[in-house]
Amino acid sequence: MQSSRLNYKNDLWIDWCPGCGDFGIVNAMVRAFQDLKLDPSNVVLVSGIGCSGKTPHYFNVTGVHTLHGRAIPFATGIKLANPQLTVIVNGGDGDLLGIGAGHFVAVGRRNIDITVILHDNQVYGLTKGQASPTLPRDLKTKALAKPNIQDAINPIALAIASGFTFVARGYAYWPEHLKELIKMAIEHKGTALVDVLQPCVTYNDIFVVDYYKDRVYKLENDPNWDPVVKENSKDEVQEKQAKALEKAREWGDRIPVGVFYRNPHVETFEERIAKFNPLYEQVPPVMQKIVGEDGVSPSITRDDFRRIFEASLVKVEKL
Ligand code: SF4
Repeated sequence: MQSSRLNYKNDLWIDWCPGCGDFGIVNAMVRAFQDLKLDPSNVVLVSGIGCSGKTPHYFNVTGVHTLHGRAIPFATGIKLANPQLTVIVNGGDGDLLGIGAGHFVAVGRRNIDITVILHDNQVYGLTKGQASPTLPRDLKTKALAKPNIQDAINPIALAIASGFTFVARGYAYWPEHLKELIKMAIEHKGTALVDVLQPCVTYNDIFVVDYYKDRVYKLENDPNWDPVVKENSKDEVQEKQAKALEKAREWGDRIPVGVFYRNPHVETFEERIAKFNPLYEQVPPVMQKIVGEDGVSPSITRDDFRRIFEASLVKVEKL
């Protein structure tokens, strides 16, 4: 299969603000898919609501633009129905850590083999810049009337506490480095988070490119940094998680990016299901034939879909 950029990226006009960090995320994703030579027909991007929600529209892969905060449960259903798919969630900090926070925690507990890319810009960009769950207390971005009076969620710490087995942070203006993180996340067997510092150039006048440029540094440049669990003893896991949490707290003159934690030894949810349902891996739900009491498989044809769609249009026109 030829893996040019055109296999993954379509020509749809991108309506993000010029300079938005989301462009860097798309760029890094395309390059990651290219390097991994992913089959576009095997990749599913799932998004919720927000500027990040538009991401699947710009790719030549299967995309599902779902409800606010619900991208993770949609992705969970898709992956469990067909474990062969590469399933990736694109969501903002408001979407995944506000209304969708419960799902974020639940997917970590399950360790389903999906990748979550968090577009982290500390504001609700699509709705004109309200404070999101990652904006620190006492800061006043330009769209706020008063400084934020809520404390921020730390996505890295929350992911580790919830059970994510791959936790990384990237920077949208370093697409080459971000690409490598996304590749590692996709290749990791289990729930992976890539928290991306993604400047919202329109509504966040604090965490701008100039703010990040002299602060972000790569964890891997420290030869002693070793985030990977090797023996999987309880002590080793606790030690690696404690070090990752310590690094996650670092936010000021220096902001670390790179891999914070990786444990390849934890069973995935799919493997847990297969333990009590041995046929799950050979015949996942997507391959199972559904038959009625008469032994006949109910099927919906393209014409049925057309009739349903046309009927719904008539109803809308009558409103
Ligand atoms: Fe990007 Fe912010 Fe514009 Fe949304 S509002 S497209 S996050 S710059």
